[in-house]
Amino acid sequence: MLDVMRIREDFPILAQEVNGHPLVYLDNAATTQKPRQVIEALVRYYETTNANIHRGIHTLAVRATEQYEATRDAVATHIGAINASDVVFTRNTTESINLVARAWGDEHVGEGDEIVLSLMEHHSNIVPWQLLARRKGAVLRYINVTDEGELDLDHARALIGPRTKIVSVVHMSNVLGTINPVAEIAAMARAHGAVTLVDGAQSAPHLPIDVSTLGCDFFAFSAHKMLGPTGVGVLWAKPGLLEAMQPFLGGGDMISVVRPEASTWADVPHKFEAGTPNIADVIAFSAALDYLKALGMTNVREHEKQITAAAIDALMAVEGIRVHGPLDVEKRGGAVSFTVDGIHPHDISTIVDQYGVAIRAGHHCAQLLMRRLEVPATNRASFYIYNHTGEVEALIDALDHAFRIFHRAESRTAVR
Ligand code: PMP
Repeated sequence: MLDVMRIREDFPILAQEVNGHPLVYLDNAATTQKPRQVIEALVRYYETTNANIHRGIHTLAVRATEQYEATRDAVATHIGAINASDVVFTRNTTESINLVARAWGDEHVGEGDEIVLSLMEHHSNIVPWQLLARRKGAVLRYINVTDEGELDLDHARALIGPRTKIVSVVHMSNVLGTINPVAEIAAMARAHGAVTLVDGAQSAPHLPIDVSTLGCDFFAFSAHKMLGPTGVGVLWAKPGLLEAMQPFLGGGDMISVVRPEASTWADVPHKFEAGTPNIADVIAFSAALDYLKALGMTNVREHEKQITAAAIDALMAVEGIRVHGPLDVEKRGGAVSFTVDGIHPHDISTIVDQYGVAIRAGHHCAQLLMRRLEVPATNRASFYIYNHTGEVEALIDALDHAFRIFHRAESRTAVR
């Protein structure tokens, strides 16, 4: 089990008051806070190492290159990848998916071909495919979501067929928390010669990940949702895939020989890292991976199951609150969406913020899912390693204030 109070000491930002109350940060699905170790790694890099990588032969350039490449090794280990050279650094999950839609999609998807997504995708796993479909005259298909907030696998089986070229699905929903059976879906795709991309933006921070057992061809995630800095994303590809793909962006660092009429490409993964990358943040990401490794991802998962169960129980006990998504914590992660009868999510979020509680309200970049749930927006509380059940209680207390404010407003209207 995690020693949450000990962990909290590593996160300076958590030790503050917001609007006169201790900060209760429950917006971890949007981005997580950073431990001192990551902040210090960033400062240390600029104070001792700063230099451009790969091109220099002076000591600082060699040191920076070694640290940057060591993070690639650490990422490969974190996700069970065999080769570090199958790991590409991007800016975020969004860029990783766009890279595949362009560099793989333009080559392999043609007119009438089908791209299979689901109704619970984040916009970053929809729009790049819409752009590809428009460029190529391809067709988008969406796997349904059941009333329990899970992917309808019978529908997936019916949709994935000989015209399918790629299936791109989220591993853990940022709205419902649902953990999808991506290995099963990847097997359906493989049976028809299609490839699978897994959007791991919410799973890589919260679950032990082994890309080889997931059976997918591409896996994308962001450092900032797992204690790392913003501006660093990862794309992992199955061995051999990156070599066969054309570059995404052209420029320095990604070439071998440049001639007036054409150029040849550097080896992977550098072929996909044009220009000066986000060296400092990549290097600091290593400290985040060390931090998670020391905790153990199985312990992270167990902690989140406990706090998620406590949150779901507490929310469901309040009359007028509806929790969306699976209720069984074995089937879900710690992003808990809920709606409150008669009070708009933005109002709820604004009021609980007055009590120091940071939750999110809106469509969470998942408008197709909002339509499926038949709600314009939801509230979302999402948990991480430094949250404890006392903070669930703080959320419930703050919600109680919201109820009372609205109740009073209603009675005032009635009196008038
Ligand atoms: N997919 C999912 C499931 C997400 O939760 C997010 C971030 N909310 C993204 C993709 C996009 O991540 P980023 O903004 O870091 O590119």
